[in-house]
Amino acid sequence: MNSIDRENIGRLCTLAGNAERIAITAHIRPDGDAMGSCTALMRFLRESGKETYIIFPDKYPDNLAFLADSAEKKFILSAEDDPGRATETISSCDLIFCLDFNKFEESRCGVLCKALSDAICYKVLIDHHLSPDRSLFSIVFSETEISSTAELLFWILMSIPQTGGDPKALSTGVATSLFAGMTTDTNNFANSVFPSTLRMASMLLEAGVDRETLLRHLYQEYPERRLRLLGKLLYSEMKITDDGVAYMILDRKTMEEYGIREGETEGFVNEPLSIGKVRMSIFIKEDNGYFRVSIRSKKGVSANRCAKKHFNGGGHELASGGRLYAPKDIKDISEAAGYVERVTHAFMNGEETGGK
Ligand code: 5GP
Ligand code: MN
Repeated sequence: MNSIDRENIGRLCTLAGNAERIAITAHIRPDGDAMGSCTALMRFLRESGKETYIIFPDKYPDNLAFLADSAEKKFILSAEDDPGRATETISSCDLIFCLDFNKFEESRCGVLCKALSDAICYKVLIDHHLSPDRSLFSIVFSETEISSTAELLFWILMSIPQTGGDPKALSTGVATSLFAGMTTDTNNFANSVFPSTLRMASMLLEAGVDRETLLRHLYQEYPERRLRLLGKLLYSEMKITDDGVAYMILDRKTMEEYGIREGETEGFVNEPLSIGKVRMSIFIKEDNGYFRVSIRSKKGVSANRCAKKHFNGGGHELASGGRLYAPKDIKDISEAAGYVERVTHAFMNGEETGGK
């Protein structure tokens, strides 16, 4: 991990030591890694006596609410709920941590883009996505050969004098949030697991993380409607092309019929990959004025390249996302299937699939 060097750690300790008000932010529609790493860092900084806030561009999903207790929730703001307070908090901080995203783009930091660009304070990036915009940050911790932002944050915390490399120096709250971020981004140890990831897991277990309880919160407390909808999609909506691309399209009407809320379709895109012949899975969901796209692939096919080329997005090699816009890409949801079939046929055949 090249970015965790003596110089970066030294500068980080100086900036954090001098800061009086600290903001932490992450990408829109925070997932387990965003919420886990933000709450871990806020807990750590607050335990160190620093006034710290998390400012998300929009709301975090209900199923991740357990990662903050009621007192901590008072320090978590959403720009969607209160744009004035979110912007004001960002501009009044003297240090901002940007976690799990790496550019000030609308598709990644939503309504906070301008406030983040305009803020004149020090900014620290901690992220595991490809191609960070280094010019935006005072310190860049960027690693792509790592499971998650939570893992990168864990190794940063293990490198500062305050912990001396001992995971037991982390509180149970910090350790649990870090474990949650890593577990969700690896799809519970199914992908992006490196030797360092298992070392982190074992150190956090030694530090007292209750993994059984954590997994129950993360994976066993969804409302019934989520699994009913997944069943319907897999049974009657999923299509598999001759090129081994599985895709599912979820329209707003069906979402309303099932009462589906933000975050409840998390993980759906992984399911078709259990089929042998499927090499890439695409999940498309209708949103306000555009269509959200999630892409997962098996080794040898680059989800990242496909997302960049055809879905206005990007991400990691095997897990990416993006958007389709109307009328630029498709007229409406009825054209989504045709679009997916056409571009993935070109991608899987004519164009280079980009896998290693
Ligand atoms: P998900 O499918 O879970 O929403 O996203 C998977 C990954 O794709 C994320 O970790 C992120 O790296 C990337 N991603 C998702 N949406 C977008 C997007 O709109 N633009 C870019 N550049 N990356 C995205
Ligand atoms: Mn992540």
